[in-house]
Amino acid sequence: MNLKQMLLPWWGEPLEAPTHVSTRTAPHAPHDSPTDPSGFPVSDVSSDGMTPPPKFSLLRHSVTAEASAPAAALSVFRHPSAQHEMLLGQVLVGFELLRCKRRSIGMVVSPEGLTVRAPRWATWNDIEQALSDKSRWICAKLVDQRDKGQRQAAARITWEEGGSIPYLGEPLVMMWAPGQKGCTLVEQQHGLPGVAQRVLHVGVPAAEQVQWAAEPARAVTWMREHVLRWLQGQALAHYRERLAHFSPAMGVQMKALKLSSARTRWGSASVDGTIRLQWKLMHFSPAVIDYVVVHELAHLREMNHSPRFWQVVAEALPDYEVPLEQLRHAVIPE
Ligand SMILES: [Zn+2]
Repeated sequence: MNLKQMLLPWWGEPLEAPTHVSTRTAPHAPHDSPTDPSGFPVSDVSSDGMTPPPKFSLLRHSVTAEASAPAAALSVFRHPSAQHEMLLGQVLVGFELLRCKRRSIGMVVSPEGLTVRAPRWATWNDIEQALSDKSRWICAKLVDQRDKGQRQAAARITWEEGGSIPYLGEPLVMMWAPGQKGCTLVEQQHGLPGVAQRVLHVGVPAAEQVQWAAEPARAVTWMREHVLRWLQGQALAHYRERLAHFSPAMGVQMKALKLSSARTRWGSASVDGTIRLQWKLMHFSPAVIDYVVVHELAHLREMNHSPRFWQVVAEALPDYEVPLEQLRHAVIPE
């Protein structure tokens, strides 16, 4: 096994078999709970022999300079409160060490980095060994957290004139429409390449705008609230149309559609025929929305995730794995 083989597999997320798949948000989703703060999930550590050899050095000095990273290190992850560093394979990890009353050495990877909690009696050798034993898990979690942070930063919406939101997978530029009511989507007929083709005119009364000079935050609130309300209306219309499109061929009939704001699920289906869909799916491409629509309609035939269920999905949407994979890494823009 060469170095590349040793390092890369921990970083990529393997495509799971469909039996593990649901429209629950992916592990990368923004509001997924972070690593169990109570301790260290040993079951997360794979025993497939991909763990790097325990060749590392513990640098027991205070962390001060970037220069402390060995030139050969591929990645550096440093907790803002790091007091110690350790080289795990080719990854330099700066971690926060907290001595506390507990029985074992625990590790938590948060968006900030690695925190190690150790009993007062634990020696440096104990800590060194614990980190070495879990190096594969630690590195995978650190990479996950960094990727998630980057996706969240990219998905941040600036609620101001000229800012844009992703709408059906494409940028939609927001502009004020003084004196108008509500929001109006305008398709640009002769857009330039690379320039947004669609503009959302956000209505605002002149009396409201007058107050923004003194209270600029009101403009942000106005735009955010009105655009999101508009998006909910669009979601209802779009989902209705897509449900009606797929239902006949799938041999199912939905009784009611409800919009959901659930943070942990993209959709759900009840035995009474009610389908709930997260309205912020409207930020994603039509293909991704179709996948969630088909997934929930398929539950009206099979209330489980059995092979039979996935067959129903595949019959309606043969290429469903492509949007499913996109959904796994999707981040809700905020
Ligand atoms: Zn499901």
